[in-house]
Amino acid sequence: NKQVIFKDFVSGFPKESDMFVTTGSVKLKLPEGSRAVLVKNLYLSCDPYMRALMKPQDANYGSVFTSYTPGSPVSGFGVAKVLESGHPDIKEGDLVWGVTTWEEYSVIKAPETLIKIQHTDVPLSYYTGILGMPGMTAYAGFYEVCSPKKGEYVYVSSAAGAVGQLVGQLAKLTGCYVVGSAGSKEKVDLLKNKFGFDEAFNYKEEHDLNAALKRYFPEGIDIYFENVGGKMLDAVLLNMRIHGRIAVCGMISQYNIDKPEGVSNLMNIVYKRVRVEGFVVFDYLQQYSKFLDTLISYIKDGKITYVEDIAEGLESGPAALVGLFSGRNVGKQVVTVSLE
Ligand code: NDP
Repeated sequence: NKQVIFKDFVSGFPKESDMFVTTGSVKLKLPEGSRAVLVKNLYLSCDPYMRALMKPQDANYGSVFTSYTPGSPVSGFGVAKVLESGHPDIKEGDLVWGVTTWEEYSVIKAPETLIKIQHTDVPLSYYTGILGMPGMTAYAGFYEVCSPKKGEYVYVSSAAGAVGQLVGQLAKLTGCYVVGSAGSKEKVDLLKNKFGFDEAFNYKEEHDLNAALKRYFPEGIDIYFENVGGKMLDAVLLNMRIHGRIAVCGMISQYNIDKPEGVSNLMNIVYKRVRVEGFVVFDYLQQYSKFLDTLISYIKDGKITYVEDIAEGLESGPAALVGLFSGRNVGKQVVTVSLE
């Protein structure tokens, strides 16, 4: 049973060498009377929150995350096939998604946290992205936190990623004017030509983010879907419209620096009566089945498209995961463990 092991707590940018691949042992039979399930992992998800798990627990503010244990395997969301089940509602052969371990086979002790996959006529890897946690984040963040209205001006940062590409497309379906930013020409092209954003720009080529936003939003921004934080947030605050909304989904530019950057333009929240609201996807899970029905029909009707960046094999996992923090991924970063 090949595994990806987390070496030790990380400060600064995570490196591939902060993890290593080893062949461990797993008991392939469940103990008698156990309610656990034994699964074969098919696809693993690389998500930015996994960086927080690489810090000691006291740096995680004791709330949303439980840190990884040095010397133990990495865990994260994934798609798996059930090989053996001690749980009455889950049977051998079921396909599930939820939190699993970065290894070929896993024993999942709390199988009630897994979600059974009913729709298998879409790529199964989608349950790590558009039909899984990041998709639900985009959906809840956009519809519940942003309170969007037709015709509004929407800005999405990290727009070519797992969450951002869906936010932009949902905003277009709502009838908004949508601009996205991303870190390469290839991503900017995707935003404009594949995901249907009205405009897109490469933030790395803009020396003055305030000027860039003024260029794309001469009348200001109604909704900012915040994925990056730092200087971008500061520039956005200068460009918000009255009664604008900022949905704070994440701040990836801050995850690898010890002292978060200061934000200078907060008084604009007062001047422009902006609503700034942070959110965590887990608070919206009761909406999952409605979300799933909506997204499946959007995908089947060709109203929504999704780009994945697939890394082959567990061995490629560490590089794929740390690549999130340099923008190496083009679209949702997935690691394939096994195709069936
Ligand atoms: P992505 O697929 O967008 O991957 C991360 C991307 O972030 C990279 O590709 C890179 O793109 C960009 N990035 C990395 N470093 C920086 C930086 N210093 N400045 C600007 N951009 C950077 O990830 P997700 O879509 O999965 O996640 C997007 C955001 O959503 C993250 O902040 C994440 O933490 C948050 N999140 C929050 C959830 C919640 O419940 N609140 C749930 C899920 C995600 P580029 O080339 O454009 O730089």
